[in-house]
Amino acid sequence: MGRENSEGGILLAGGTVVTLDADHRVIENGAVRVQNDRIVAVGKRGDMEKSFKGTVLEASGCIIMPGLVNAHTHLPMSLFRGLADDLPLMEWLTGHMFPAEAAHIRPETVYTATLLSCAEMLLSGTTFCCDGYFHEDSTARAVAESGMRAILAQGVIDYPAPGVPDPSKNVEAALMFVRSAKGRFPAIEPSIFCHSPYTCSAETLIRAKTAAREENVLLQIHVAETDGERDQCFAQNGVSPVGYLDRLGVLDERTLLVHAVAVDDADLSMIKKSGAAVVHVPESNMKLGSGVAPVPDMLAHGIPVALGTDGCASNNDLDMFGEAATTALLHKAFRKDPTVMNAETALRMATEKGAEALGSGSVTGSLEPGKKADIIVVDTRRPHLVPMYSPLSHLVYSARGSDVRDVMVDGRLVVRQRKLLTLDLERIMERMERLGSVVKGKA
Ligand SMILES: [Zn+2]
Repeated sequence: MGRENSEGGILLAGGTVVTLDADHRVIENGAVRVQNDRIVAVGKRGDMEKSFKGTVLEASGCIIMPGLVNAHTHLPMSLFRGLADDLPLMEWLTGHMFPAEAAHIRPETVYTATLLSCAEMLLSGTTFCCDGYFHEDSTARAVAESGMRAILAQGVIDYPAPGVPDPSKNVEAALMFVRSAKGRFPAIEPSIFCHSPYTCSAETLIRAKTAAREENVLLQIHVAETDGERDQCFAQNGVSPVGYLDRLGVLDERTLLVHAVAVDDADLSMIKKSGAAVVHVPESNMKLGSGVAPVPDMLAHGIPVALGTDGCASNNDLDMFGEAATTALLHKAFRKDPTVMNAETALRMATEKGAEALGSGSVTGSLEPGKKADIIVVDTRRPHLVPMYSPLSHLVYSARGSDVRDVMVDGRLVVRQRKLLTLDLERIMERMERLGSVVKGKA
């Protein structure tokens, strides 16, 4: 399982290398050389094979590209996939998700459901995710076992929550997770996740941001998800949800704003000025009828925008190829302009721009020497991918997560020939089926 990597390294060779670097390099018959956990060279196969003494991973007929970045997830919610669909956000959240979470979310369900989500993500090419939920220490254990890279946050909400029955202890619980997770797993970085400005008081938001600043970690928050939230915020606070967070001093370059659907130009200027980043979650917004985030305007403002799936109870999968395609298509349809979101823009949001928005742009997101070896091999010898005029176009408009053949994270092969090497998928699915029958009986 990547043990060969410690000696002569690995050369992924022979495919089309889509680097997504600053020079937009696409290399035919290219190769990527990996030594330990890092990419050490990217170039033509012929040059790189000379004098190479390690293991060659043959990738002819494939695309070699950076692993995908899912910048917003609630991993354990795979337990509730398909449990309540076709409902408005508030009814879905308060009538179905919060009660299901109260009844079924425990450390062991979080652990098992996270294993399933990691399996789904790795097998579909996602190597890095950013998560926020409850019992996050169990999430961390499962993510570490899977071999994924992740930013993980304990959730903060002013209601009794799984594992945190007393809301006055919510920030302390999040802080405890941050301190216990720091440095514990090499590819996991802790963070704090406030559910939203309407489920967290001003005091909670300020305490959470202060704690995040003291620990130098990312603060994630759902914000401006619907027009209803925006109207309510204006009625209660006299400002927009983004304006409210700005007034509380919560916005800075270590703040990640999820959704940002109901925002205007003044909000976007505020976000840009603060240095905060946005995560666009189009399929969740579409499924819950929340609307369309003005992503082309965000990009025009120079705001870093990442892509995420959201929890798979509101998506209902974790396939980032699907999310990139939805992003490219949705904005064209919404603006009645096919030039408003091209394939490369969507693909970069799912890779290097995503990593940048998460503050990990120097670590991962593109194929460049010095970066961590988070690499995927996409099999293009498939009926829906032949012939191939433009690899970037195919990756967004035609490819699917199931086309991913091999996955490497941190220099370690975690998927080989579509088989997960780190987890026993059959056993996880059996355990999830058992948990699902409990949810079905009680939900
Ligand atoms: Zn979410």
